[in-house]
This record gives sequence, C-alpha cells and structure tokens, in this order.
Amino acid sequence: MSNHPLMSNFPLYPTSLQQALGDPLVFRPSTLKAVRAFAATKPWRGTLDDRQSKFQKLHADLCAIYSVSPTVAIEGDGTGDSGGSCFQPGANVITLRGRLSVITFLHEWGHVLKGSSEFEACRWSLRLFQKCFPRSFARLRWEGHVGRRGDRTESE
Ligand SMILES: [Zn+2]
Repeated sequence: MSNHPLMSNFPLYPTSLQQALGDPLVFRPSTLKAVRAFAATKPWRGTLDDRQSKFQKLHADLCAIYSVSPTVAIEGDGTGDSGGSCFQPGANVITLRGRLSVITFLHEWGHVLKGSSEFEACRWSLRLFQKCFPRSFARLRWEGHVGRRGDRTESE
C-alpha cells in the first residue's frame, strides 16, 4: 500500500479501523458524486475488462476533479492480494496489483492527494468508502494495516 516495505515495527500505519478513519473529512460534492456513480456500476462485477473500465472511468473523473494527472497501471489477472499496489509520486503512477480492490484504489488516490502519510491516505480513502459504500463499509474487518471486506459476497 506504500511504496516502501516498512510496515512491521513502526507505527507508520494505523492499528485500528477507528484510528485509520481519523477525524471527519468533508469531501467535494463532485468527488462524492463520482465515487457514488462508480459504486452504482458495481465495480466488483463483470469481466476483468469490464471492471478495469469502471476503475479507469473513476480514475479519469478524479483526475478532472482534482486537476492532477497520475496514470494508473493495472497489472496481473485481477486475483490475489492487492497489498502490492502502490503510488509512485516520482513517476506519478498508481499501480494496482492483485484483485481489483476499491479500497486499495481509493487508498492510492489518498496518497496522490495527501502525500506519503499512511494515516492521511487511510483517512481519505476509508472516509470516502464509508460514505459511498456504506453496506460494504459496515462489514469491514481490520487486518494488519488495512481494511478487508468482512465477507466474500460482493454486494453493495
Ligand atoms: Zn499506503
């Protein structure tokens, strides 16, 4: 989730969902609209191509809203752990690995907008996920430093 592998003995990452959420955030109405539209497309449904298109659409919307231009590279076959995903500020590239995860995608966008702080990236992404995917958010479990979906039925 970070572009460095340090995640063991240092409090670089929040240690609970409540800590990760941090203080409330106010999002731009355009951001909420874009992410809710993305949610309505049911981003976990469809073929891998379909799903990539949904993520790319949200990515383009966020680029327009925030006037930034990171690229997004989606690697792999859309299965497996998404924890190897990252944002590399120098190259200005979000790389998504493993299963296409909404939370991971938003987390990397948190880094785009908030910099390298894991706390700020978690806060931005989880607060946004909470607002736009409320039922999935309610099922989140905290594992290590990331939220995981609480079950494998992917419905919202
Ligand atoms: Zn991160």
